[in-house]
Amino acid sequence: MADAPGAILVAGQWRQGRGPVIETVDPATGEVITTLRGARADDVDLAAEQAARAASDVEWRDMLPHQRARLLATAADLIERDAERLARLQTRDTGKTLVETRALVGSAAGTFRFYAAALETASSELTPARGPHLAMSVYEPIGVVGAITPWNSPIASDAQKVAPALAGGNAVLLKPAEVTPLVSLALGELLLEAGFPAGLISVLPGAGRVVGEAIVRHPRVGKVSFTGGTDTGRLIGRLAADKVMPVTTELGGKSPTIVCADADLDHAVAGVLYGIFSSTGQSCIAGSRIFVHRDVKGEFVDRLVRAATSLRVGPGTDAATQVGPLATFAHRDRVVALVDRAREEGARVLCGGEVADDPALARGAYYLPTLLAGLPNDSKTCQEEIFGPVGVLLPFDDVDDLVEQANDTVYGLACGIWTRDYRQAWSLARRIEAGTVWVNTYKQFSIATPFSGMKASGIGTEKGRDGIRAYQRQKSVYFGLNDEPLPWARV
Ligand code: NAD
Repeated sequence: MADAPGAILVAGQWRQGRGPVIETVDPATGEVITTLRGARADDVDLAAEQAARAASDVEWRDMLPHQRARLLATAADLIERDAERLARLQTRDTGKTLVETRALVGSAAGTFRFYAAALETASSELTPARGPHLAMSVYEPIGVVGAITPWNSPIASDAQKVAPALAGGNAVLLKPAEVTPLVSLALGELLLEAGFPAGLISVLPGAGRVVGEAIVRHPRVGKVSFTGGTDTGRLIGRLAADKVMPVTTELGGKSPTIVCADADLDHAVAGVLYGIFSSTGQSCIAGSRIFVHRDVKGEFVDRLVRAATSLRVGPGTDAATQVGPLATFAHRDRVVALVDRAREEGARVLCGGEVADDPALARGAYYLPTLLAGLPNDSKTCQEEIFGPVGVLLPFDDVDDLVEQANDTVYGLACGIWTRDYRQAWSLARRIEAGTVWVNTYKQFSIATPFSGMKASGIGTEKGRDGIRAYQRQKSVYFGLNDEPLPWARV
């Protein structure tokens, strides 16, 4: 990439894209970081054809698991070697704080290392025979898979798809969001350096409607793993259904976080604050609906508002910053409009509710941490994802009513529960429709723990040892052990 600035990665070759120019902008300052020509449908076609050839090449197809694992482990080493460069690049491109981007880069390296280990230790199954045969189930690569990712945590969400896809023996067409392509291109460069056969790796930034759809529709692509908005996920699901192609979709959320009457309020305030305002709220699992038991509502809300007001808003490169800018100016304007709509719906703004007025932040896409109250759970503000630093407080008295309200959403991604009563925690954790529940903590992850959404938050699972299986096809093989010909044919 260093030799071909502004290039995209097409089956291991750096080329100028044939699509429109993409201008990547630092949202902390409004400065243009770089411009590049994105991909076009014919770039996707070239990448997919070459990927199919690379995926079926015997050298890759017959590579033994421990040899493929070595490539994944080398990729992890290289990501760690370049960790600071990657973190700074991602902070410039997305506005995220360096603390976060360092963690995301670490997570990406950990993901490659985890799938190296998972691959080496994965086994096929010998299934119990019900006759004179030996039956087994084996897993094979799909061939070419598409990985389509959003702009909020690029390198970690890229790794979450690319590492298990390569471990599964596939070629990958990675399509990062057009507004934040830089760290994904840098990841592609490191995968080539790690020694993966070049044709396996493509990084194709560009408009979702053009490049993303071309990947989903391409006849060579046998699976798509998508992370992004629910509307886009629905569209991709429809396109995939036409091809009878499997898809994994990790989509939006409007997650409830529940503060019970007996909660340790020190923990609850810190956890709820982190759950909604870290990553400037641009997180699918943000705890954006904050249900508080009426007995502790007064004290909890006072403390939460005080804490939210004192969060340090600033550029991601400043070590003191807790809340960076939104990833783009367009997204910041969208958050402004959604908070205006909340006011029209009758929301009381407890704090924030406006762009930062600090002159030092005037050039960036900043928005103040915002808490709203006074809206019913069925308001648009409580039902639609804002994907910004905006939480809504909702009081509750009765646990059954709480469960009904918490589940009364199209989404089912995550849930937080703050209580000292573990029986209550267990009961609530089982009753709330969410793929992940945190009790007395929030937004903690391990690559070893499966992640998925319920309802409109997605289909399929990522992470965990079985993550590789999402990028493979299962095949059963029977070996006959009969001493005689099959009896049916006996005459
Ligand atoms: P988005 O759906 O607009 O875009 C996501 C990706 O899909 C981008 O690369 C985009 O270019 C591409 N895309 C857009 N239209 C497409 C199409 N028609 N065909 C194929 N690809 C297309 O989402 P976004 O605004 O980039 O990201 C924010 C959303 O992502 C939020 O809803 C958030 O909740 C969700 N998200 C979910 C998870 C999760 O794991 N569940 C994680 C992070 C973000």
